[in-house]
Amino acid sequence: MLTIAVSKGRIFEDCMPLLEEAGIFPIDDPKTSRKLILDTTRSDVQLIIIRATDVPTFVEYGAADLGIAGKDVLLEHGAESLYEPLDLKIACCRLMTATPKDLFEIPKRVRVATKYVKTAQQYFASRGIQAEIIKLYGSMELAPLVGLADCIVDLVDTGNTLKANGLEPRDLIMNISSRLVVNKAAMKMKHAEIQALIEQFKLTLAKRA
Ligand code: AMP
Repeated sequence: MLTIAVSKGRIFEDCMPLLEEAGIFPIDDPKTSRKLILDTTRSDVQLIIIRATDVPTFVEYGAADLGIAGKDVLLEHGAESLYEPLDLKIACCRLMTATPKDLFEIPKRVRVATKYVKTAQQYFASRGIQAEIIKLYGSMELAPLVGLADCIVDLVDTGNTLKANGLEPRDLIMNISSRLVVNKAAMKMKHAEIQALIEQFKLTLAKRA
């Protein structure tokens, strides 16, 4: 049995076609089912649908053999504990700094609200900017509006969320996409099955390119 951990939401929707090309269709409708483990049309594959930030943890500990998660989440988690064999080129977006429109220059000592604490720390340190990082779990856009922070670090896709809140994107930290990750022990123990799945994903991605 192969267990694949998939991030809820946008990533799940974007990876469904990839899974379907590999013959993996959930038996229950993931939109209406409350099951946390989904059996699929492949009797040797099950899906677990979990919060994005939990995907690397499940895969690292072998509770899932494989996972699909955004590079943003993988960077925060730390990459050493997992194999990351494939960029799935889905759920693409940018990790950026953003500030209120009327802030012309980022101050030398900046307060930054983000859920990407490690990544933000590294980014500002690499640019010689002294940053006080404030950890939030969501609605980062609110922080500059109510004086909690000067700046946020968040994912930007269309930019509409920033715009709707009077913010604008400033610096690109990294282009983000979802990656396939694999538990290191599973890669050895279930090598043939996992490699076959990776090859199938590669084929589908090559057709799309
Ligand atoms: P947008 O308004 O299109 O720029 O989308 C920005 C909002 O969607 C922010 O709240 C982001 O955290 C979230 N977001 C954008 N792209 C992604 C993605 N690929 N995965 C998860 N969240 C995303």
